[in-house]
Amino acid sequence: MRRFVAAAVAAILVLLAAGFAGLWFSPSVQDAMLRRVVEANMAFNDAVLDPDALHVVLCGTGSPMPDPDRAQACHLVYAGEHVFAVDAGLGGWNRIAAFGLPVGNLSGVLLTHFHSDHISGLPDIALNSWASGRREALAVYGPPGVETVMAGFDLAYSLDDGYRIAHHGPDFFSEQGANYRPIIVDVPDRDTGVTLFDADGVTITAFLVNHEPVEPAYGFRIDYRGRSVVFSGDTKQDFNVATFGKGADVIIHDAMATHMVDLLGEGLAERGDRRSKVMYDIQDYHATPVEAAEVANEAGAKLLVFSHVVPRLPNAIAERVYLRGVSDVRKRGFMIGYDGLYLRLPVGSEKIETIDLR
Ligand SMILES: [Zn+2]
Ligand SMILES: [Zn+2]
Repeated sequence: MRRFVAAAVAAILVLLAAGFAGLWFSPSVQDAMLRRVVEANMAFNDAVLDPDALHVVLCGTGSPMPDPDRAQACHLVYAGEHVFAVDAGLGGWNRIAAFGLPVGNLSGVLLTHFHSDHISGLPDIALNSWASGRREALAVYGPPGVETVMAGFDLAYSLDDGYRIAHHGPDFFSEQGANYRPIIVDVPDRDTGVTLFDADGVTITAFLVNHEPVEPAYGFRIDYRGRSVVFSGDTKQDFNVATFGKGADVIIHDAMATHMVDLLGEGLAERGDRRSKVMYDIQDYHATPVEAAEVANEAGAKLLVFSHVVPRLPNAIAERVYLRGVSDVRKRGFMIGYDGLYLRLPVGSEKIETIDLR
């Protein structure tokens, strides 16, 4: 028996060695393996195109503070034949590509405001949706000022666009597809929601939030066949999110743990680092996790997802500190968002499926 086991182990080792030798020395074996890897990576995550559900994917849950685990603000919403990006911060595209999410039929980008961490990844999303087949200029909805920001991107990338059209041909990269089409959304006052899109069962409403001195700053609500998701954008605690988020299935809310940021500020101050001032300043225009929970309760939302997570949460203890006090105001129906969180909301159901795309 022992001899048999030894022989079997030896045979397995020989096979492993032969396999490794093939991989190491044989170009045809290497190519075959690469082909399989490419195939796996190129497969689109077509589940998000199912028209019988509202699909929300978090492609960036971070902030301007460097965080290796989180890209800057980025979300994708798939609703029937439409795909919208909500904010487009740095690194968002890398996540979208890594999760194999289709963007060729991107209907538009919704910008909550123009802080860098919400717009700095826009050129990457624009370029890649252009390469994926978008022929028309990319519609970008945002507060007044969106025309200035888009004119800036158009100018900054005009040479790049020219190189790409010249290299790949206008049949592949249409001239129009290189451009942005800014659409100014004017919300007159706090009590008025402005419908900026209403077609094919998808309704998108913009409303005011409080991110002073950034004015105006918007939240968005997206409704599709009875299911709904609300984005607070960047805001301090503002019950306007609850007013316009009434009965929403999901609220994705920015949340900064000020009790943790305080400690970071103290640490920087002790080292004489001038950025300690930033740690104090930023605390007056974001909601805390507890405040976001109060807003979600007022809205009667089924699920609250913390996003725009500040500070970095490198482990379970940090997450616990981040959530301190939340369960005192909201017993269930909340979670810390992460890059790769996919929420699937089937039409005609109350269900919210959470799927990890990482
Ligand atoms: Zn931000
Ligand atoms: Zn902001």
